[in-house]
Formats: sequence, structure tokens, C-alpha cells
Amino acid sequence: MPGKSEMKQRRARRNGVEGEEKALNDDYEKKKKKEEDEEEEEEEEKFECSLVKYEALPDYLKDNEFILDYYRSEWPLKETFLSVFLWHNETLNIWTHLGGFFLFLGLTIMNLMEINGVGQHISTSSGAIADSLMKNISQSLFFEYQGSHILEDQAFTLTSKPVTFTRVPRWPWFVFLGGAMVCLSFSSITHLLHSHSRRANFFFWALDYTGISTMIISSFFPAIYYAFFCHPTLQLLYLSTISLIGLITVITLTSPSLSTPRFRPLRGGLFLGMGFWGLIPTVHAIVVNWGHSDSLMGHAYEAVMALAYATGAGIYMSRIPERWRPGAFDIAGHSHQIFHVFVILGALAHYTAMRVLMDWRDGGATCLLQ
Ligand SMILES: [Zn+2]
Repeated sequence: MPGKSEMKQRRARRNGVEGEEKALNDDYEKKKKKEEDEEEEEEEEKFECSLVKYEALPDYLKDNEFILDYYRSEWPLKETFLSVFLWHNETLNIWTHLGGFFLFLGLTIMNLMEINGVGQHISTSSGAIADSLMKNISQSLFFEYQGSHILEDQAFTLTSKPVTFTRVPRWPWFVFLGGAMVCLSFSSITHLLHSHSRRANFFFWALDYTGISTMIISSFFPAIYYAFFCHPTLQLLYLSTISLIGLITVITLTSPSLSTPRFRPLRGGLFLGMGFWGLIPTVHAIVVNWGHSDSLMGHAYEAVMALAYATGAGIYMSRIPERWRPGAFDIAGHSHQIFHVFVILGALAHYTAMRVLMDWRDGGATCLLQ
């Protein structure tokens, strides 16, 4: 019979062996897990780099069955973000509107700088005020001041009528420029990130629809504001109506049940409807400003805008040309890219129309004359 102390020693030895075995097991588990992780990572890396075909997409990413290949599907966020520099079937959707965003950013900066210039223009027209203003502006601006003074003199002799600069408020004009930038940037981000996950997909398409609605509503602001400049009640009526319609559209479009491909015609129809609502204030503005050629010129540009948007929306809904040759326009030339280009053309036509209207109001078309 082993003594008590010997039994203690044996137990301690056994425990020691068990402890060692446990440690070995733990090590083995850790190593195995590390290997598995590495394998997973490798798989993920392989996965990140691959573009997949339409059939391989999860249901929520299946939007256009005529675009057969080059899809990004549930890539990690970082890789999805960096895919802005890769070729896939969304590259041109991203860049058309990113380019449009920078175009409108440039136009906004140009307009902000112009306000500065126009500010000095007014000062040249009003002698005494000019003197006090000139005390406060820099030497470099002083030369601009001289330049605009000469230009004004030339305008005076060429047109042989006094040039009055009653500059109308610019805020509705910047509401439009801001709305265009919101729409184009939201669209670009949506096309870049929507394929990351189901949640991202829902969130970003809602963001895109919000951006489009913002652009449409903000486009109405300068149009209504300058056309009904002498009719504040109509101004308020039309601006509040379009804001309300816009709000309802955004709520409808961002509801989860309507974001499926099945509702593409409804979405297109809602945007188109919002645009066509504009016919009412447009016809009204033509009547109110009848006989003013500048106003009519503005409406001519608005017609170009309407044509561009309607053509774009038609192409978006019909999915032409990819439905004629599925797979042939996966990377370049499919309907959504053409739609994006028409959106920019429409926005530029509207920009020109608003420029004409604003210059008309600036150029002395005061309410007393009407
Ligand atoms: Zn788009």
C-alpha cells in the first residue's frame, strides 16, 4: 500500500501530465484555428477579386437580367469602395455622375465668384456707394472694378439705353445647384456601394431616390421664383405644392416594399409625374410673362430639359439597348449609363434656362414694367 505522501506525489504527476496534454491540445486547437482563419482569408481574397455572373447573384442584387456579367456581389466594404477604380458593370454609372457632380461643383464655384463680381458691378452703377465699398476691398479687386466699369460703359453705348442692375436674390439658384450636386453625388455613391450587402442595397437605393427627388424639387425653385417674381402668392403656392409632392414621392419611394425591380415602372412614373406636374406652373408662367422674349427663351431651354429627362426616363424603364443584345452592353452602353448622361444634359439645359430667366430679372425687368 502506498503511503499518503506517495499518493499525493502520484496525483501531482498525473495532474502534471494531464496539464501538459491540455496545453498541447490547446496549442493544436489554436494552430488549427489559425490555419482555418488563414484559409478563410485566402478564400475571401480570392472572392474579393472576382466578378460574378447574373445567375450567381443573391436575389436582391438581381435587377437587370439583360446585363449578364461583371457584377460585384457582397464584397467587403473596403474593396467595394475601392472598386471605383476597377472595371465592372457599374464603373461608368459611378463615373458619369461623379463627373456631373464635379461639373456642377465647378459651376457653383463660378457662380459664387460671379456674385462677388456682380456686387462690384452694382457699386459702379451707384457712384457714392461705390466709393465707400472701394475703401473696403483689396487692391486686386480694384482692377476688376475698373474692368467692369469700362464694360458697363461699352454696354451703355452699344445698347444706347441705361443699364440697370437690380440684382434679384440668388438663393433659389443655389438651391438648384445644391440639389443637382446632392442628386449626382448620392447617385454616384449608391452605384459604388449598393452591392456590399442586403442592408446597404436597401439604404443606398433609398438614398438615390431621395437624391433624384431633391434634384427635381430644387429645379423648380429658381424656375418658379424668377418666373413668378412679381406674383409672390403664386410663388408661394407653387413652391409649397412641389415641396409637398416631393416629400410624398420620397416617402413612397423609400418604403421597402417598393424598392424591388418589379416597381421600376412605378418609380420611373413617379419621377416623370413630378416632372410633368411642372407643366402647370410653366403654362401659367408663359401666360403671366407673355410678350417677354427672354422669358420665352427660358421656356425653350426648359423644353430641351423636359425632352432630355423624358428620353432618359424612357430609356431607364425600357432597358434599351441591352434587351436587344443581352450581355453586349454589360460594361459600356447599357440603359442606366445613357439615362445618367441624359440627366446631366437635362440639368445643364435647366441651368441655361435659369441663367436666362435670372439675367432677364437682373437686367431691369422690374415688376412695375409688367
Ligand atoms: Zn443611377
